[in-house]
Amino acid sequence: MSQRPCPICLSTSFEPIFDAVIDDFEGTVFDKRVLVGCCQQCGFAYNIPDFTSSCLETHYQTEALYQTETGFGVGGTTPADVTRYERYYRLLEPFLANRDVAVVDIGCSKGGFLASLRDKGLSNLRGIELDPICAEYARTTHGLEILSGSANSVPLSDGEADVLVYSHVLEHLDDPDQVLRETKRVLKEDGIVFIEVPDALHYADAKMFDYFHWFGMREHINHFDAAHLSRLLENVGFETLLSNEAIVSPYESELTPNSRHAFPMLAGIFRKSKGKPSEMTFNQGVLRNALDRYIASETGIIESNKDKLTHLIESGKPIYVWGIALEFFCLYSFGELKRCNIQALVDKSAFKQGKTVNGLQIVSPETLCSVSPDAAVIITSSFHADAMLRYLKEIAFAGDVVVFR
Ligand SMILES: [Zn+2]
Repeated sequence: MSQRPCPICLSTSFEPIFDAVIDDFEGTVFDKRVLVGCCQQCGFAYNIPDFTSSCLETHYQTEALYQTETGFGVGGTTPADVTRYERYYRLLEPFLANRDVAVVDIGCSKGGFLASLRDKGLSNLRGIELDPICAEYARTTHGLEILSGSANSVPLSDGEADVLVYSHVLEHLDDPDQVLRETKRVLKEDGIVFIEVPDALHYADAKMFDYFHWFGMREHINHFDAAHLSRLLENVGFETLLSNEAIVSPYESELTPNSRHAFPMLAGIFRKSKGKPSEMTFNQGVLRNALDRYIASETGIIESNKDKLTHLIESGKPIYVWGIALEFFCLYSFGELKRCNIQALVDKSAFKQGKTVNGLQIVSPETLCSVSPDAAVIITSSFHADAMLRYLKEIAFAGDVVVFR
């Protein structure tokens, strides 16, 4: 395993805090092992294995499900996304000099945020996107100008942009420092950058689901808190204008701190500065303690759910597991699901059907119409559980059904 240095301070000494194998679709570019460490110099938390940039680019271009997902957080225009864009705009608006500022969304996906800015009266808008399907969607659906390119090498001249947007990009980057130098090059003097990432300080307080969701997303290789995000930007020559932590519940109208389906978000606005960065000082234990709390919480939940499948494991019943996404991979890797007599995995996405996980084939939900009457279904998608239960009722499925939510 080649090793990444700490992306904040470049130290190579780290303490491992999480080291596990998380299953995935067979043939993925990623190693199944996830190793998260805390830097012994500055306390930042990051995934240690060094994926090459080309490996990550292959993943985003051919394996990532962003273009097929209809859910929250993939650049679309779901109600949850619209709420997210409103929050971005509230934070960003005080720093916009006028309606003509040149805004570039780096990794704009399907272009939802740019389209929402146009609705606010902004006109000088462009997106940069690596995924050709998402880029084409943004062009045809929203009529946006989208350039093909990556954050590492932005296809713009020096000093072209007033505002750069990186929404859920920096947690993916192998070398964020290099990307931010590119940011600086493309921005005008006094240009600003808007960044949002998951807030690792609050992984334990808000999670989409249990069983190490925040470490299960293996393309999330940087785990930021506000102090380290500011430090990263200041190292490259930015000053912090705003830092905002929020717990966001995309599936509910109210933002409630202990909501079941919630994200901890960290947003920041930074201005290109000529000043020298200040001395690097950190309370090293803060992020580490927060992640230790997260790890203890997930470990406790796995332990307390241990008996949930005992009757199915002992009976040896044929099992079909429905909903093959990260939630499944976490349950499968850390829970008792692996001990079940699984016949097949079920997912309605044609993109996933035909793929395998540990030799288990992914089949369509219609398969469940003709399974043996003593079979059982385990539902592993908390978002789609209700629709799945309705379908099982429609087809008069008579076996046991267990829902994880
Ligand atoms: Zn460090």
